[in-house]
Amino acid sequence: MHALLVEDDDRMARALGTALAQRGHTTRRVGRALDALRLVHEAEFVLLDLGLPDLDGLDLLRRLRTVCDAPLIVVTARCEERDIVQGLRAGADDYVVKPFRMAELMARIDTVRRRTDRPGTPAEAAGPRIAVGDVVVDLAARTVTVAGRPVHLTRREFDVLAHLAARRTQVHSREEILDRIWGDAFLAVSRSLDVHVAGIRAKTGRSHLVRTVRGFGYQLGTEGRPAAHPADTAADGPDPAGREGGPGGSQDTLA
Ligand code: CA
Repeated sequence: MHALLVEDDDRMARALGTALAQRGHTTRRVGRALDALRLVHEAEFVLLDLGLPDLDGLDLLRRLRTVCDAPLIVVTARCEERDIVQGLRAGADDYVVKPFRMAELMARIDTVRRRTDRPGTPAEAAGPRIAVGDVVVDLAARTVTVAGRPVHLTRREFDVLAHLAARRTQVHSREEILDRIWGDAFLAVSRSLDVHVAGIRAKTGRSHLVRTVRGFGYQLGTEGRPAAHPADTAADGPDPAGREGGPGGSQDTLA
């Protein structure tokens, strides 16, 4: 399998790369969070060091989880209970504290892979680009276009949209989204989630792109059924998401 190894320490990276190769895995090693975000879509599993030079590892973990469902094991020197809980809550499948025994880490990789190995997890099935009507969310490039034109979302707005888009068939509770994106399920200012959703709708001009599930949370909207008449595409209809845009209103495709 193909591993993404996010580790800024050369010696550690070499040791891990060798051990992974001995077990038949190929490895792409990166030392910076930005490169991890760029390359994570090719990974079948991820080993993540939390102490990185350009971004806190927990922030990176949350951002990786918005675009990727691959098994992920944190491998870090941070050994406080609080760190471990935060890592697991941010979406790590396992957490290994340095120094560790290589054989134990390899056994944990096998276990996590067995547990998560199911065909067509949502992010894999969807691929890195997800289309809803004429809105295309590119998870790897972190871009959004509407009818072919780029739309500039803030980092958090994109993270929220990407989280919904990567698991488009699921309804997501407010707590889950806050936990994954903000790292705190009970954020005092949890209204900031609504503000971000409003921002996504306003900037894309596609109010149905994010569907509100009252009293619970949000889901990625659907394009709706193909209209029988042009009149059915009226912007204020209750159902079709993002059909207002004229040309390029593509099918609800997975690219
Ligand atoms: Ca480090």
